[in-house]
Amino acid sequence: RLHNTIQELKGNIRVFCRVRPVLPSDMSESSASKSQSDMMPHIRFAEDDQANEIELVQIQDSTTTGKTTTKQYPFSFDRVFPPKSTQQEVFDEISQLVQSALDGYPVCIFAYGQTGSGKTHTMEGPTNPDEVTAGMIPRAVHQIFQTAEQLQSKGWSYTMEGQFLEIYNEAIHDLLTTTTNGSKKHEIKHQPHGKTVVTDLTTVALDTPAQVHQLLKRALHNRAVAATQCNERSSRSHSVFTLRLTGQNTITQESSAGVLNLIDLAGSERLSQSGSTGDRLKETQAINKSLSCLGDVIHALGNRDNHIPYRNSKLTYLLQNSLGGNSKTLMFVNVSPVQISFQETLCSLRFATKLP
Ligand code: ADP
Ligand code: MG
Repeated sequence: RLHNTIQELKGNIRVFCRVRPVLPSDMSESSASKSQSDMMPHIRFAEDDQANEIELVQIQDSTTTGKTTTKQYPFSFDRVFPPKSTQQEVFDEISQLVQSALDGYPVCIFAYGQTGSGKTHTMEGPTNPDEVTAGMIPRAVHQIFQTAEQLQSKGWSYTMEGQFLEIYNEAIHDLLTTTTNGSKKHEIKHQPHGKTVVTDLTTVALDTPAQVHQLLKRALHNRAVAATQCNERSSRSHSVFTLRLTGQNTITQESSAGVLNLIDLAGSERLSQSGSTGDRLKETQAINKSLSCLGDVIHALGNRDNHIPYRNSKLTYLLQNSLGGNSKTLMFVNVSPVQISFQETLCSLRFATKLP
């Protein structure tokens, strides 16, 4: 009964935690100056397959007494994926949500976490993904085309269109074109029937999975070009891939209009504002503001507040029609398992528990 009540309160918002494996680069980074315990994984999980508990363990070596003390911080989520989880195992848990977009619901899937915690790996996969390593975006696209084809026999035909944009310093940039690079101002317009339009944004009609992969490649390339102009830009911006799915049923005369938004958020690491000035300070403030605003919006939705502060950031204003109402939201909280990331991991887990 209690469990049901919690589910009702949470509505259509889920939070999953994914812990990335220890990487060879974790070793080389810390081995020079840090002790052995810095490299030791400091996260424990419940030992069953449907685990939703995670425990963060702080290990402190006292230099004066030579003693090691540990402190535990337990958290629970709708689902916890340990480092050994495969992309397929993760996708299995979101495939229902992807299906909802075909059924006509607005869906948002976010990846939140510090830079290097596995957000892009989760959403896109590595630069040249294969069937095993492909992330949620290519898998979602694959499933949508497969299901749309199966639904043809039941009278459904779908049209799909895609957009890919980046929000950097509270300004929208089109990731599907380079010609206007930065010069065009994109505005967000909400239309009466719940459709959101971004002015002058490239929209690509998608008829085959190959076209989607082409689109993703183009966006990735443009993101990389922008990154060379501004160092680390891809970790300082939010990228939003939007797939609109419009269905018509010639047998039943039903129609559906769903949207799937897949969002790779800017790195959540708290950057010290004291040392930064000028553009860097502005950038830092923009990230802090938009991530905390996203948290506020999701929290307010879970609380069923009357006022949802969508307008406080570009990201939440853009996604206004895909957050709340009959929409479904999933937040991945990506964390690193190494001791050196302890403070950031703790912050990410705390951010997540403030959500509903
Ligand atoms: P972020 O986008 O959060 O900055 P990345 O997705 O780029 O982080 O991940 C950082 C590094 O960790 C990359 O080299 C990535 O390939 C690797 N990585 C992340 N998650 C996993 C995982 N689940 N399995 C294997 N490697 C991973
Ligand atoms: Mg990334």
